[in-house]
Amino acid sequence: MVTAAQGSILYLDGVSVSFDGFRAINSLSLVLKPGEMRAIIGPNGAGKTTMMDIVTGKTRPDAGDVLFDGTHDLTRLDEAEIARLGVGRKFQKPTVFETLSVEDNLLLALKGARGVLDVLLARLSGAERRRIDELLGLIRLGDRRAEMAADLSHGQKQWLEIGMLLAQDPKVLLVDEPVAGMTDVETMQTAELLREVAGAHSVVVVEHDMAFVRELGVKVSVLHEGSVLAEGSIDHVSADQKVIDVYLGR
Ligand code: ADP
Ligand code: MG
Repeated sequence: MVTAAQGSILYLDGVSVSFDGFRAINSLSLVLKPGEMRAIIGPNGAGKTTMMDIVTGKTRPDAGDVLFDGTHDLTRLDEAEIARLGVGRKFQKPTVFETLSVEDNLLLALKGARGVLDVLLARLSGAERRRIDELLGLIRLGDRRAEMAADLSHGQKQWLEIGMLLAQDPKVLLVDEPVAGMTDVETMQTAELLREVAGAHSVVVVEHDMAFVRELGVKVSVLHEGSVLAEGSIDHVSADQKVIDVYLGR
């Protein structure tokens, strides 16, 4: 076992992957503690999405350790197994059920992959009802619960999808560019929402919006050419000349 991985929820060390000879991830190391939220920034093509593909089992690394909870070797598990362990991922495009209500979207997510009609017709237990109310409050859609998801704003759909992921109670939540296309107000509300989610869940959030990253107020890892160029507070990495040269100054 890798002793350095003890006490971590996600542990990447020396991870590399090449596509047709191009090294998209190059000896990447990243450690996330339980309940920690980490922001990942870096130029286009830095390998941010590929890093998430590796964690979720979509892409197999050529080398390196990828461990969940210090013990599970994610390089040996498939996507479904990794999801079952408690790794949830939010993609850039929301994938809510447009013709169902906000509440029914959450209900389906809470019940997992079963027959849609069975789930919607079944009576809710008190605990399920409370969980849905709690999620609606967290994603700021309590007063929109009966509306069709299709009628939500782009930002609200993103929140609904975050709520659907949380309904499955993941230990780690991976979020790729959540505030792209959101209004400034929605962007700040999303930062607040994710701060409320962290603690009970570990969160890895990739984002280009620096005002948003600053609002998160968490440790930032800067990726460049497939490895970590700098790490620390937003002020620390923003003052780093290497970071300015490859990302912020451009
Ligand atoms: P980022 O999310 O930081 O913008 P990506 O992880 O999407 O960067 O991409 C990193 C590099 O790897 C890019 O050069 C991209 O073209 C390449 N890449 C990513 N996935 C694949 C793939 N499945 N096949 C070939 N090249 C890929
Ligand atoms: Mg990307």
